[in-house]
Amino acid sequence: MNRPDRLEPGQAERLRAERDRDWRKALRRDISVQKRMAIDRQPMPEQEPWVRIKNFKEVNLGYTFDLARAEARRCLDCGQPGCVAGCPVAIDIPTFIKYIEAGEPEKALETIRRTNGLPAICGRVCPQEVQCEKECNLARAGREPVAIGHLERFVADYICLREGTGTAFHAGPGAPPRPEKIAVVGSGPGGLTAAADLARLGYRVTVFEALHLPGGVLAYGIPEFRLPREILESEINFIKTLGVEVRTNFIVGRTASLDDLRREGYAAFFLATGAGLPSFMNIPGENLLGVYSANEYLTRVNLMKGFRFPEFDTPVPGARKAAVIGGGNVAMDAVRTALRLGAGQATIYYRRSRAEMPARTEEVKHAGEEGIVFNFLTVPVRFLGNERGELRGMVLQRLALGEPDSSGRPRPVPIPGSEFEVEVDLAVVAIGQSPNPLLIRQLPDLKLGRWGNVEVNFQTMATSLPGIYAGGDVVRGGATVILAMGDGRRAARAIDEFLRTG
Ligand SMILES: Cc1cc2nc3c(=O)[nH]c(=O)nc-3n(C[C@H](O)[C@H](O)[C@H](O)COP(=O)(O)OP(=O)(O)OC[C@H]3O[C@@H](n4cnc5c(N)ncnc54)[C@H](O)[C@@H]3O)c2cc1C
Repeated sequence: MNRPDRLEPGQAERLRAERDRDWRKALRRDISVQKRMAIDRQPMPEQEPWVRIKNFKEVNLGYTFDLARAEARRCLDCGQPGCVAGCPVAIDIPTFIKYIEAGEPEKALETIRRTNGLPAICGRVCPQEVQCEKECNLARAGREPVAIGHLERFVADYICLREGTGTAFHAGPGAPPRPEKIAVVGSGPGGLTAAADLARLGYRVTVFEALHLPGGVLAYGIPEFRLPREILESEINFIKTLGVEVRTNFIVGRTASLDDLRREGYAAFFLATGAGLPSFMNIPGENLLGVYSANEYLTRVNLMKGFRFPEFDTPVPGARKAAVIGGGNVAMDAVRTALRLGAGQATIYYRRSRAEMPARTEEVKHAGEEGIVFNFLTVPVRFLGNERGELRGMVLQRLALGEPDSSGRPRPVPIPGSEFEVEVDLAVVAIGQSPNPLLIRQLPDLKLGRWGNVEVNFQTMATSLPGIYAGGDVVRGGATVILAMGDGRRAARAIDEFLRTG
């Protein structure tokens, strides 16, 4: 896939100008590089593992002001900040961190929000270790990188939650109003980002969401112990203050077609419908009671509040022994949810080794601390049921790592004769998902890729159909929040260009 330029037009100059400001120079003079490098990374305060496995409250408690300033002092304010280039939405990271050091979190948030409308979320869920923090010059010098994600989260929480309003910060006046209406389909991070940017450019934007709550995976996938719902609501409220209308319980392609919306005057479309169609293993026994896709399992718990059954009328299967198949964030969320719902044993079965697991490092660490068992290089080949059609166990096979496959990772190869049986009464399959075909199948001329994903020009996110743009997981398959946001940002710019130039 093409990688778009990360710096916004003019951003390199802006970064240089920001860095040359007097207060920044004074901070640099204040503490030497050697002293900054000697400061250890400030640990994130957390709920103790034995406490948190009994609740759904957030695991990370967030930096205090003092911790945040101490961590901000570690940033060297480099001349060539690798972190900015490592961030898919090119946040001016050194500037926001130096504002924290200077004790001005409001200005830090203002800086972040120039390029990121969802900082409290990104600070919590972005895989910083393979993005901004990986490119931190401290890490290159053999020290732990600056905790950029923790600092981003601190800034957003400090401002937005301090007064309990969630919308204490306003983006200031946007561009003059434009007459065109734009429809965004899907209210995940991709759709919300495009909507916010288009509203700032002066357009009238409506986000259409199939579910009863906005947020996409942020609402129905990621559990509250990683992303509290009041944080999500606060971010969505902020976007609404920009003038964005959000219409829930509206399935584009069923409640109304794209043509209906065109007739209602929508001049351009951004499809951000995600990848909500779960993949299955296609092995015997997969339809037994007690075998779930991660999508269904997490939706029952997160969106339909099944964990508060019978207060909320969505039963979630309790389990004595829960097995989750997969090694990504989805698998980590499912297994830690099963544990919190009372499973005596909760185990991950992953077909590669620890080194290839795509889940965020922090989630794997937290899962390990909570007592999740990891079984690497194993894959189920059959689910076993009892006479009532309920899951009672699985037959697994051991694997070895072979030559790299098309993803560049070593291919897992079955070891003959290595099958073994385990007892489980809940299995959650978290091996990936693909785009929901409902809407895109109604557009016969829309060019699709090999996996049913929408094909786009990655510079503009334009699809093969004029006026229709797409981004996020519907284009990339299961990707990340920040990549979806980056797509939304580029699409907004391109839609603006399209509407201005005809
Ligand atoms: C359990 C889980 C954990 C994850 N953890 C992380 C993480 O820690 N870090 C990270 O960066 N990424 C994580 N991801 C991936 C990340 O959440 C996604 O990459 C991101 O949400 C994709 O955003 P999106 O805007 O493309 O779509 P989504 O967030 O999938 O939202 C799409 C929305 O479109 C709606 N929709 C679909 N079709 C229609 C239609 N026809 N009409 C109206 N609405 C429609 C859907 O209901 C949905 O609300 C996780 C994913 C899951 C499932």
